Amino acid sequence: MKLDARTPSGPIEQAWDQARFDMKLVNPANKRRHTLIVVGSGLAGASASATLGELGYNVQCFCFQDSPRRAHSIAAQGGINAAKNYQNDGDSIYRLFYDTVKGGDFRSREANVYRLAQNSVHIIDQCVAQGVPFAREYGGSLENRSFGGAQVSRTFYARGQTGQQLLLGAYQALERQIDLGQVTMFPRTEMLDLIVIDGQARGIVTRNLITGKLGVHLADAVILATGGYGNVYYLSTNAKGSNATAIWRAHKRGALFANPCFTQIHPTCIPVSGDYQSKLTLMSESLRNDGRIWVPKKKGDKRKPSEIPEEERDYYLERKYPAFGNLVPRDVASRNAKAVCDEGRGVGEGGLGVYLDFSDAIRRLGEATIRERYGNLFDMYQRITDENPYKVPMRIYPAIHYTMGGLWVDYQLQSTIPGLFVLGEANFSDHGANRLGASALMQGLSDGYFIIPYTVGNYLANAKPGKVSESRPEVQAALTSVQQGVDRLLAIRGKRTVDSFHRELGKIMWDDCGMSRTAKGLQEAIGKIRALREEYWKNVNVPGSDADLNQSLEKAGRVADFFELGELMCLDALERNESCGGHFREEYQTPEGEAQRDDEHYSYVAAWGYPGPGKQPELTKEPLEFAYVHPSQRSYK
Ligand SMILES: Cc1cc2nc3c(=O)[nH]c(=O)nc-3n(C[C@H](O)[C@H](O)[C@H](O)COP(=O)(O)OP(=O)(O)OC[C@H]3O[C@@H](n4cnc5c(N)ncnc54)[C@H](O)[C@@H]3O)c2cc1C
Repeated sequence: MKLDARTPSGPIEQAWDQARFDMKLVNPANKRRHTLIVVGSGLAGASASATLGELGYNVQCFCFQDSPRRAHSIAAQGGINAAKNYQNDGDSIYRLFYDTVKGGDFRSREANVYRLAQNSVHIIDQCVAQGVPFAREYGGSLENRSFGGAQVSRTFYARGQTGQQLLLGAYQALERQIDLGQVTMFPRTEMLDLIVIDGQARGIVTRNLITGKLGVHLADAVILATGGYGNVYYLSTNAKGSNATAIWRAHKRGALFANPCFTQIHPTCIPVSGDYQSKLTLMSESLRNDGRIWVPKKKGDKRKPSEIPEEERDYYLERKYPAFGNLVPRDVASRNAKAVCDEGRGVGEGGLGVYLDFSDAIRRLGEATIRERYGNLFDMYQRITDENPYKVPMRIYPAIHYTMGGLWVDYQLQSTIPGLFVLGEANFSDHGANRLGASALMQGLSDGYFIIPYTVGNYLANAKPGKVSESRPEVQAALTSVQQGVDRLLAIRGKRTVDSFHRELGKIMWDDCGMSRTAKGLQEAIGKIRALREEYWKNVNVPGSDADLNQSLEKAGRVADFFELGELMCLDALERNESCGGHFREEYQTPEGEAQRDDEHYSYVAAWGYPGPGKQPELTKEPLEFAYVHPSQRSYK
């Protein structure tokens, strides 16, 4: 297959304007004749549904939670980037573009990233107009803080609840359209298959999670905004319900999956405390504005932090990266935390932790200021660890947080299936091999508010999808396939819980396809995943029936998909014989232990096709070209 990214030609600054002008429009009267399906009600899905409803399309929006406002986006803490340059500290659209391409270790598409930086300024205006309560300075203008990988302050925030406040804004816009009858909301409804007719995405098969009833929904285009797949690792900072089923099943219907192994490990999470744990908690990157990261200089130093004098502490990020200090990007901060712990200098029980210390900032600014900036995060930390971070340093360790990979999309956010669009964390688009902090919210809202309203119209005007009926064999085949999948899981009645399999899969993924990877480990992981998957289909126990609420059944389907995706992630990581961003292959590192890219052979997007059960996935490459930000060894020194 040849991939056409439909990247506009001409100067990058004018590319999006030109592309929008070149796109066909749908006139208002005709918009009313089109039905669009949006799966997902997080920032990407809610903003898309609200905007498409406002434009006059008939929208059907689906989510598995009981309310759209419970989407995982609500958990986002630290902030959202925008190149407003309110601080007058040297920011610009070009600098945000530059930082993002460099931060992603030169594995993203330049034109997409430039458009993201351009849209960032509109997002803030839109959200302020909706009433999102961003933090403000004394004089009333919006306040900013810094995030990793940038030397300017461009992150807009609402305490440590930025995602919640942004989602409330998008949710209100969505509710308005629901009230007007433009959007029909389907909560507690899970998409379990994509319906493709005559090569075009024309609908979805769903399961009502309360009654168990399967349903068919047909439309003129389908938009997936279903979030990331970090929960393949079992332990992650993601909401427990986040999963890959929608994009994985679309992949099995023909959508290529791009860069599946590009996962982000966040350096500042509360360390794992035991085997019983089912979830990890993020401590926002914003804390690195004021918190200083350190470990004892001596190995195995068991003294309390207060007993370790200044000269016996190693502020290793400030020492190694004086230009960025504690605000190096996430991949760099995570690898360094692992390295000092591997040396035996980690803190806390088990030695898998480093200190994030606010004592200097509290001395300088006072406890009240720190409480104002991060109060809810400090409270959360104290509730979980029973330690008071105003008095003792936080202990943090890297954890799985975000997935840069996802369904391949072109510049118009269309997947390789015409009429199937993918937004937000579910697509692979803008972050390359490492996402900079505060840029996921930016991307989700850019996709939903400012890109899909144009590109879906362009598709409808060109493709002119006609009517389809439920009697089409493709519809019935998708419905039957979903029912068979459900029946198969319920018939096993084995001895192990879904969670026990998931936990074991997650451990394989973390050990061999996590923070560092080797060819040997990845090969072994593929073997272990296959064996565990085989056992799953013989020995998993899914109690109950499919005729009512059955959370084991919901999880069982999602974990079955995680098995297949996990294997593809390992294969992708094995095929990419280089290190870049969050993908750190131990065989490829600089003498200083930094990621060693191989631009000559790997400057491409790896897009995988699904060939059918048991067959080797097919790799298609989209070459990446850099006309503006010249690839170089990333340096934060
Ligand atoms: C703890 C935490 C803090 C974060 N903080 C920040 C931050 O400060 N700044 C930042 O930029 N990023 C942050 N991120 C990342 C950011 O929150 C996410 O990338 C972003 O919110 C994803 O939005 P989304 O709309 O793509 O997906 P989500 O918000 O995950 O929404 C997915 C939607 O899809 C629906 N869905 C999924 N599958 C199905 C299905 N099969 N059928 C029906 N519905 C389905 C769900 O119900 C949900 O409505 C953070 C992430 C975490 C985990």
